[in-house]
Amino acid sequence: MWEDSRYFWVVHCKNHWFHVRKNLFFRHRIPLAETDAFTSRPAIDSRFRARCDECGKEYVYKPSEVLRCEQEPPESFTPHPLFSEEGTGANSVVAEGPSQKN
Ligand SMILES: [Zn+2]
Repeated sequence: MWEDSRYFWVVHCKNHWFHVRKNLFFRHRIPLAETDAFTSRPAIDSRFRARCDECGKEYVYKPSEVLRCEQEPPESFTPHPLFSEEGTGANSVVAEGPSQKN
C-alpha cells in the first residue's frame, strides 16, 4: 500500500437534486486545487464561482465554504483560477510539480 494521501481544496456542489439521485448521503465535492495536510487555506477575500465537474452547474461560494479533503486525484482536473493565481504568489508553498503522474 502506498501511504500517499492526497489533499484537495474542495467545495460541495449545491446542485443537491442532481447528485442525491446517485447517493443520498454523499455530497459531491468539486476539487479546486491540490494541497497538503498542512498548508493553510489560501487567503480568499471574496465570493467566487466554481463549476461542478460532474453536473456542470456553476454556483457562487463563500471563502468559508472551502474545505480541505483527503481524496483521490480526479482523472481530469483543472485547478480553479483563484487558486492557481495564489500558487504563484509570494507565500506559495511548492514542493512538487503541479501535475505528477505515477
Ligand atoms: Zn454538481
